Amino acid sequence: MHMATRNWVALFVVLSCLLGVLDASAGDADPLYRACVKQCEETGCVGQKCFPHCKFSSDGASINGPWYMQEPLYLQWKKWDCLSDCRYNCMVDREIKRDALGHGPVKYHGKWPFIRVYGIQEPASVAFSVLNLAMHFHGWLSFFILLYYKLPLKQTKKAYYEFSPLWHIYGFLSMNSWFWSAVFHSRDVDLTEKFDYSSAVALLGFSLILAILRSFNVRDEAARVMVAAPLLAFVTTHILYLNFYKLDYGWNMKVCVVMAVAQLLIWATWAGITRHPSRWKLWVVVFGGALAMLLEIYDFPPYYGFLDAHAIWHATTIPLTYIWWSFIRDDAEFQTANMLKKGRP
Ligand SMILES: [Zn+2]
Repeated sequence: MHMATRNWVALFVVLSCLLGVLDASAGDADPLYRACVKQCEETGCVGQKCFPHCKFSSDGASINGPWYMQEPLYLQWKKWDCLSDCRYNCMVDREIKRDALGHGPVKYHGKWPFIRVYGIQEPASVAFSVLNLAMHFHGWLSFFILLYYKLPLKQTKKAYYEFSPLWHIYGFLSMNSWFWSAVFHSRDVDLTEKFDYSSAVALLGFSLILAILRSFNVRDEAARVMVAAPLLAFVTTHILYLNFYKLDYGWNMKVCVVMAVAQLLIWATWAGITRHPSRWKLWVVVFGGALAMLLEIYDFPPYYGFLDAHAIWHATTIPLTYIWWSFIRDDAEFQTANMLKKGRP
């Protein structure tokens, strides 16, 4: 392999290994932390601190209170609140003890020990997730308007651009993923974690399919199905495995790394050989994204308990998302113009 190519590959592998959301953590593997959470769920207390949400009677129903306080949904919510309070306070407790012994901070459930603001666990990451969501909405909406109101349409009122349905799905999956990212960074419980991981995997898997279909310009329906079917089957199985069998962080990271590396390589290779007029935008997004992930190499604990590498990484994807959708719009315009030139129906 050519030296430069090999360096690129190495860079991609290293960078993609650092997809921050997807790593196992030392903090929650600590038996002392686990024992603390378990005990807290039973007693409702960490040390001298006790939490009202953790007051359950032995059969799981809450003690005292009117009928609506006995509703299953409300009880479920109480259990989440209880677990969240237990985890947070056990973490704070562990960190104080670790600090006294001269140990630095460690991660818990994939995240650094953060200071809560109004019950929001990671305010910076939540804010950036919401901005990413807004940016995807803006990007998708302007793509939609371009496609159906500005560019010429076929007689069937369909767009000439043959990748439009795929980008609509991509837009939906992106917004879905950032929504759950915002929820997960606000409140870290098993359910929000599963939603966040599942939607991230779904997005990653679908964008890999999209990378293959667009860069190889696969237009034929049968060929598209041949590419998509095995990948969709794999991604679905993987999501079911994570949710209903085992949330295996290590295995999930491997799956995500492979899917991320594959699509980065595909886009980068395509950007290198295509004569697409907007290929420079592809370059910016692929390498900007890769460089942004450098932040995760120096995955530092949060400044003043707020701004960590992961939050800054989420911030950098905001401008990249803008450029990405701008590339997608250019692609729609470019392809439409090409097809009209060729005189295709
Ligand atoms: Zn995140």
